[in-house]
Amino acid sequence: MSNGPDILVSEIFHSIQGESTFAGWTCAFIRLAGCGHGCRFCDTTYAEALGQTMTVRAALEQAMAFGAACIEVTGGEPLLQPGSYPLLEALCDRCPHVLLETGGFLPVDRVDPRVRIILDVKAPSSGVAEENCLDNLPLALRSPSRFEFKFVLASREDYLWAREFISAHRLAGSCTILFGAVFGKLELQRLAEWILEDRLPVRMQLQLHKYIWPPETRGV
Ligand code: SF4
Repeated sequence: MSNGPDILVSEIFHSIQGESTFAGWTCAFIRLAGCGHGCRFCDTTYAEALGQTMTVRAALEQAMAFGAACIEVTGGEPLLQPGSYPLLEALCDRCPHVLLETGGFLPVDRVDPRVRIILDVKAPSSGVAEENCLDNLPLALRSPSRFEFKFVLASREDYLWAREFISAHRLAGSCTILFGAVFGKLELQRLAEWILEDRLPVRMQLQLHKYIWPPETRGV
């Protein structure tokens, strides 16, 4: 491959995948810099800094060298950088399990179809629920195996909103739906009890890395 375009990289590291159906796998992460969406509970605000300029090829080689079971491109918001598309494509040529974590406010229709897309749906307490890109839903419903919808909830109101969202958009039964709690804001036991009470067809998840390492640790 050529060196590809330049991308701005916040960090590249090797860790345990913490949030998705791949949780628990070894994973090489490429965290692209920049977002600006301003979610209230953002836990990667440090990725707003400019980051290091690298070619797609250099980032790919560095990530592949870890020999991890999967590779995830995350952020910040990766899709704000045009270089994220050739990066994902090149990763798919080399690795069978490529994940993209995106904030859900941009269209994902140009992402390589081999990528597993973990798509955030922002709940009201994030302050940006009005900006969820609903145009992504028809694409996800047409090819559900490519998508995981991720809700991170901070309150009962968020939970009820998310329950209504998955019902109104008929997501249940087709796509993987992940429900988790904003770390330190909503007790996991309460969330588990609500899910059980409602018999919701969602997969509850923890932010695994925040239990393995101190929650504020970077590069894990
Ligand atoms: S979209 Fe993600 S990276 Fe951007 S502000 Fe929201 S939580 Fe943070």
